[in-house]
Amino acid sequence: MRFTRVIGHSTLKAKLIGNVREGRVPHAQFFLGPRGSGVLPLALGYARYLLCTDRGLADACGKCPSCVQLDKLTHPDLHLIFPIFLFEKGKTCDPLVPEWRALVLKEPYLDDALWREEQEGGENKQLRMGVDIAAEIQRKLSLKAYSGGWKVMLIWLPEFVDTAAANKLLKILEEPEPGTAILMAGHNPELMLPTILSRVQLVKVSALHEEDLVQALLARHPDLRPEEARICAVRSGGDLLEAMDLAEKNEEELFVLFRDWMRASYALKMPEAVELAERFARMGRERQKGFMRYGLHLVRMSLLQAAGAPDLVRAEGQEQEFIRRFAAMLSAHRAEGLRRELETAHQHLERNANPKVLFMDLSYGMYRLLRA
Ligand SMILES: [Zn+2]
Repeated sequence: MRFTRVIGHSTLKAKLIGNVREGRVPHAQFFLGPRGSGVLPLALGYARYLLCTDRGLADACGKCPSCVQLDKLTHPDLHLIFPIFLFEKGKTCDPLVPEWRALVLKEPYLDDALWREEQEGGENKQLRMGVDIAAEIQRKLSLKAYSGGWKVMLIWLPEFVDTAAANKLLKILEEPEPGTAILMAGHNPELMLPTILSRVQLVKVSALHEEDLVQALLARHPDLRPEEARICAVRSGGDLLEAMDLAEKNEEELFVLFRDWMRASYALKMPEAVELAERFARMGRERQKGFMRYGLHLVRMSLLQAAGAPDLVRAEGQEQEFIRRFAAMLSAHRAEGLRRELETAHQHLERNANPKVLFMDLSYGMYRLLRA
């Protein structure tokens, strides 16, 4: 994770970079902020900037051997510590590093729930960091820096440290070693010992700003409309994970409506079509237009599937399954007809057509097209 790829927080990033450039690297820092704000990505961006051997003014270079290793989070001087399920004595983070690393590379904004899910049978188990992990931190800090530069100890969610481990960690913080940077990233300082908090420099991370979040959502969900992205951003309170969840539910709702509509139209089930038309009419103008665009997207994806290019189909789960089946019955001629119908409907909605009448007309149109 480079600073450039961390969403928002431009002032904070500039400040952190400035500190490193001026040689002010605190022994221990705690990146503290709410869920989905990016505390871990920021700590990782900072770690990379510290370890990069060819730092630029605004970010790590992205090309030096250190950066190449950090692309995979495998730099030997970056030590990774995180909470684990502590059901057996002597368990440390080390054996789980590959798993944690893979998850972080996939979703650097992860929370403890995602991490729990990733581990088998983890739903009901408690995550913790016990004495053995504190000893692991101590052991890793006693190693010489492999590359002769900084040694970075990243501790994700230090609020999961238990009491015995906390006392050990406190000792580690009391005896700073030169060339070592301890970076913590978490959300709940009230669960931590005040003595630990007093020994780390706090880096306060705010919730994401609405505009930054909207841009991030649109980048992750290219089919989302800007208005929808804004609604998800506002409702999430600046939490990327929550906003993503809302965006996915939004798409799910459109998908179910479109799928049920195609089924009802194909079978000419009029009572069902009427019911769907009523649901459609309640959606509001912007969302109705979004629905037509979503339908166009599904038709396009189905055409790609039918054309033997399933690699280009951006879909998962039941959406993917629908596209596969829809593609099987979609000739180029039918697809063209559907495209025209949906585009015309979109235009009519812009000119304030009655949504219920329009939807019913369209249902007959779909029936004719699909059965032709
Ligand atoms: Zn570099």
